[in-house]
Amino acid sequence: MNKSIVIAGGGIGGLAAALRCAAPEVAVHVVERAKAFSEVGAGIQIGPNVTRILKAWGLGTAVQSVAAFPDFLRVRQAHSGAQIGQLRLGATAVARYGAPYATVHRADLHEVLLQAVQGQARAHLILNQDVTGFAQHTDGVLVQLSNGEPMMAKALVGADGLWSQVRAQLLGDGAPHFTGHLAYRALLLQSELPAALRTQDVTVWWGPRLHVVQYPVRRGELLNLVAIVHGPAPSDTAPWDHAANAADLARALGDVCSDLKALVEAAPAWRLWALCDRVPMRGADQQAQGAVALLGDAAHPMRPYMAQGAGMAIEDADALGRCLALPGDDVPAKLAHFAQLRWQRNARVQRKAIRNGQIFHAQGLLRWGRDTSMRLLGEGLIDVPWLYGGP
Ligand SMILES: Cc1cc2nc3c(=O)[nH]c(=O)nc-3n(C[C@H](O)[C@H](O)[C@H](O)COP(=O)(O)OP(=O)(O)OC[C@H]3O[C@@H](n4cnc5c(N)ncnc54)[C@H](O)[C@@H]3O)c2cc1C
Repeated sequence: MNKSIVIAGGGIGGLAAALRCAAPEVAVHVVERAKAFSEVGAGIQIGPNVTRILKAWGLGTAVQSVAAFPDFLRVRQAHSGAQIGQLRLGATAVARYGAPYATVHRADLHEVLLQAVQGQARAHLILNQDVTGFAQHTDGVLVQLSNGEPMMAKALVGADGLWSQVRAQLLGDGAPHFTGHLAYRALLLQSELPAALRTQDVTVWWGPRLHVVQYPVRRGELLNLVAIVHGPAPSDTAPWDHAANAADLARALGDVCSDLKALVEAAPAWRLWALCDRVPMRGADQQAQGAVALLGDAAHPMRPYMAQGAGMAIEDADALGRCLALPGDDVPAKLAHFAQLRWQRNARVQRKAIRNGQIFHAQGLLRWGRDTSMRLLGEGLIDVPWLYGGP
């Protein structure tokens, strides 16, 4: 029987899946459309649920050498500057969840995964090729590539992101939709910032119809800044990245407090994302059918308000590897098991991300209730034990 697996997409999810699925008896082929592996210049937060998995994969030291490990997540009001809550991270997260809360440059995490994949004898990387389609047969999947050469595999994993072609064929459920939210991202060199703006903590600034998140990446040398505002979609929302204009952002943020204003003004360049998502998953058949599985943003694109999109892709990859390693040759049954393990948790994170957007951007009475509960209940409202303690 053909024992190879084709993975469409070599982003964080695709590489994680390659690492977890390659085995002495299983060859993995990662087909990536880009000419070279690369990741956008921006940060991501990875909770203890994710760092625990990376450590179990033997990547703890590699992650440690590139990430930052904040001691606090602070919540402040964007306009008054007042702190309304905080969550202890650092040693507290390790004591609670057995793994740290980390913040990392996407390119650094991608590179850690890439090096690990390149160290696997049975993992093969194919660049500058698109997976354009597939046909399921009784003994596997015939995968079509843009060079016209088909590949026969026992399974196809669609890790091809938000605009997944594998999903389009498998589910045929249309394009993702624009959320009405825009994300501006910037990276600032901490050594070039005034001392008062440098920080090794995560801060989330909440304001009406907006929020801003800042955290250190690359061992704390850089500060990642993400500002989310409401606004109309740019003329084309499909590409990942747009040139953005600091003046538009300043207008959208309005009269924020001087600390936040100074930080935003210190950003050397902003890049704009139109945030898209899908309705939260409704069943296991949206994660796998037959010998084809979806993983990461291809399966469950989400708003970034739980900071878990890449995290869920890594959790997916871990579960996928475990399921495919089960004894026997019934790949569709293994993928069905994988889908059962994953879809409800992915749907829950998608739902909670939508809800968080409403809470972060609250106005009027909802905002008053939010701030009052935060003051009364403290970090119990910010911590997410079901998420960080999982999967
Ligand atoms: C503003 C913002 C902030 C975020 N913050 C966080 C955070 O703090 N924490 C977190 O965990 N997540 C965060 N995320 C989410 C995270 O970035 C994504 O969930 C994650 O990158 C998804 O990874 P992926 O591998 O599934 O998809 P992608 O990273 O999109 O990778 C897909 C890959 O597939 C390739 N490809 C596409 N089509 C084809 C094809 N047909 N054939 C071959 N290759 C193909 C693409 O070139 C790409 O390399 C954030 C997202 C945004 C927008």
